[in-house]
Amino acid sequence: MNRILPTSTVGSLPKPSWLAQPEVLWSPWRLQGDELSEGKQDALRIAAHEQSNRGIDIVSDGEQTRQHFVTTFIEHLDGVDFDRRETVRIRNRYDASVPTVIGDVSRSKPVFVDDARFLRQQTDQPIKWALPGPMTMIDTLYDGHYKSREKLAWEFATILNQEARDLEAAGVDIIQFDEPAFNVYFDEMKDWGVAALERATEGLRAETAVHICYGYGIKANTDWKASLGSEWRQYEESFPLLQQSSIDIISLECHNSRVPIDLVELVRGKKVMLGAIDVADERVETPHEVAATLRRALGFVDADKLLPSTNCGMAPFPRDIALAKLSALSAGARIVREEISAASLTEAVR
Ligand SMILES: [Zn+2]
Repeated sequence: MNRILPTSTVGSLPKPSWLAQPEVLWSPWRLQGDELSEGKQDALRIAAHEQSNRGIDIVSDGEQTRQHFVTTFIEHLDGVDFDRRETVRIRNRYDASVPTVIGDVSRSKPVFVDDARFLRQQTDQPIKWALPGPMTMIDTLYDGHYKSREKLAWEFATILNQEARDLEAAGVDIIQFDEPAFNVYFDEMKDWGVAALERATEGLRAETAVHICYGYGIKANTDWKASLGSEWRQYEESFPLLQQSSIDIISLECHNSRVPIDLVELVRGKKVMLGAIDVADERVETPHEVAATLRRALGFVDADKLLPSTNCGMAPFPRDIALAKLSALSAGARIVREEISAASLTEAVR
């Protein structure tokens, strides 16, 4: 990255309405067969170009080829039966009907590698690809085989490492693991969660990121957030461990949240992908609001390690709002970038 404060999104962007029903998660596809494959590629191409046009520096796929950030990956693995479903409580927050682990889990072929190669062809900018983290994967399944959350997480970590190595070979610069479960299951996270995440990144030359958030702007999550009190201190549990870990970039939720900004200090030395765009509110931030959030963060992270981003994915938004928020993010980052370079010029002439 040749400039400071490179911008990115955490992950998903809304899909075009001709591809999938807008403004819902797990939205059903509106095309089939070859038309669906072609439609997914067209959507991915549009998502990449919209990001570039709107000044986003690190380009993602916007998750245009996946129905959901966790389930789509699992669907491609062996050992999970999607027809046998059980109801489980996801992240202690809401009940969902989930598939069942019926045998040893494995990856018989790459899952996202063709899509990543396609994204690589669309842009010369750095690209980032998101995968679910091991602990978040086990939380969306019923395990009728291993009967151990830890054992299943280690199996998934091995599979994720295979996929991550293939993504790296396809030209992905940053591989991100989404671990919202780190904000919920603190004991497991400390016992084996961070270790399993490190296993997933073993041997990678690409930069690695972990995204930990308070979730999409859906009702189950906003209700949960309302119950968390005036200060959200969940990051206090994971950040000290991540600061000591081999993960390069820590992605967190910040703008409009009740996360005390000084918690960023706990990962000092790491790169920080800071959420400066709210994904639970359709109002589009002004560039000055984005800049204000970035300035606050600069008290706790060095400017050369700050990556302005969104709080989480934007899949549930109307498309025009998500795109306007991309523009706000890059305009806000530009304001702070100019302030920093002006300040260093002043420093130089002194
Ligand atoms: Zn998130």
